Amino acid sequence: MEYRILGKTGLKISTLGFGGIPIQRIDAEGTKTLVRQMAAAGVNYIDTARGYTVSEEYLGVALEGMREQFILATKSMVRDKEGMANEIEISLKNLRTDYIDLYQFHNPNAAQLEQILAPGGAMEAMLEAKAAGKIGHIGVTLHSKEVFEKVIEYDWVESVMFPYNIVETQGEELMAKCAEKNIGFICMKPLAGGAIEDATLALRFIAQNPHVTVAIPGMAEAKELEQNMAAMCDQRPLTEAELTQIQQIRQQLGNNFCRRCGYCAPCSAGIGIPAAFVAEGYALRYGLREYGEKRYEASGAPASSCVDCGLCEERCPYQLPIRNMLKKVAETFGK
Ligand code: SF4
Ligand code: SF4
Repeated sequence: MEYRILGKTGLKISTLGFGGIPIQRIDAEGTKTLVRQMAAAGVNYIDTARGYTVSEEYLGVALEGMREQFILATKSMVRDKEGMANEIEISLKNLRTDYIDLYQFHNPNAAQLEQILAPGGAMEAMLEAKAAGKIGHIGVTLHSKEVFEKVIEYDWVESVMFPYNIVETQGEELMAKCAEKNIGFICMKPLAGGAIEDATLALRFIAQNPHVTVAIPGMAEAKELEQNMAAMCDQRPLTEAELTQIQQIRQQLGNNFCRRCGYCAPCSAGIGIPAAFVAEGYALRYGLREYGEKRYEASGAPASSCVDCGLCEERCPYQLPIRNMLKKVAETFGK
């Protein structure tokens, strides 16, 4: 396993970390097994969030007796002081620890960032928790490039988490700036939210960029862990064949693809927006028409029931033209 220093935090972390989202799909016992496997493999970085339902709790149980072997990071979407102080206490309780290495502001937009930093904002709670030794370092997770540009000018930012993968390279220049300013860069969505099927190629691409401190793919089994480790630790340059594959993926997915973050929900008409796009992907990209139709049936109201309110597009951090994209889904499935 390769280790790098996470910017100003000085923490030495494995270049392959663990993204805690998939824990929602497995149980507490499965989480324990996975955590033991990670420790054995030398993966020492775990990222979770207050928003990932049971993730913090399952990890807390799994980490009992093993806390010291890991660097723990979590995050909260609360923006005010009182709320954030409460969130930190909940995280500590859930994770069954008295110290969290890195606490992050979870995906603030520009207005929310102002609120965080204003008097009575969440930053005050973070600084108090840091002074009290409850958290070690402060970071921020983002989807917006504009906010990314802004935050790296602040001295308090010790790490930034932002999407970076074969089809989302919009942060590359800012990642280099992070390195200049000694801010750790945590790569989220290394597989573009599951849109990139070939995990090995996706991580090989990321491993080529020296400005990435750690990538945090979601993993639910030992096999994925082994495969991801091999890819992240493989420093050989990309081959011609791999570069061709990367071009093909870029052409196939384009810029208008859904990362399944779910921020667009709830839809006014009951459409399961990301699930509808996933179903379309099965039908069109993977040649699994029948399976795609089944998934579409189970995804919620059909895309054709969109009432054009536009609320989903206001919430989508990628500014996707969701309504137009749903029209294509409706054409694909005939409803
Ligand atoms: S514009 Fe359509 S898809 Fe978006 S929230 Fe409104 S009804 Fe749902
Ligand atoms: S449409 Fe946008 S907000 Fe909704 S899941 Fe996809 S990327 Fe996220």
